[in-house]
Amino acid sequence: MKRDRDTTDFRGVAARYRERSDGCIFCDVDSSRVVAANELMVAIKDAYPVTEGHSLLLPRRHVASPNALYQPVINEMWALAANVRGELLAADETITGFNFGSNDGASAGQTVMHAHLHIIPRRDGDAERPRGGVRGVIPERQAY
Ligand code: 5GP
Ligand code: ZN
Repeated sequence: MKRDRDTTDFRGVAARYRERSDGCIFCDVDSSRVVAANELMVAIKDAYPVTEGHSLLLPRRHVASPNALYQPVINEMWALAANVRGELLAADETITGFNFGSNDGASAGQTVMHAHLHIIPRRDGDAERPRGGVRGVIPERQAY
């Protein structure tokens, strides 16, 4: 039987998951602000919520673009998103929908250059014309 002779050193892989950026507010979240977490992600409330319950999912590893996340982080991000969504729904029966989204780059509106997923609870009647949702990033193109 073939023995395990693989000499690959995986310590560098683990180290990459510990990458942080000095001065980044999302690398340095106080544990008291964390509302949900798993090994690779934390969830916090947005300090300037669009709607009540607006939450942010932050990978623990610092990376600017949501498209630079490693696949295991993406998996954990969406697993945590499902948990946070469920907890928001259980805690607030006025919530009737959600917008999930990420801004990738300053041109797209990103202001904190640490990748994150917005979870924005929606309620019937919270906007005059909700049709189109995230299409509203270009307000005049939201409805179609
Ligand atoms: P972005 O524009 O980069 O997609 O989103 C950044 C988000 O972070 C914004 O929704 C903003 O309200 C939120 N935010 C900015 N500063 C802080 C902070 O110090 N704490 C928390 N919890 N959220 C913040
Ligand atoms: Zn960071």
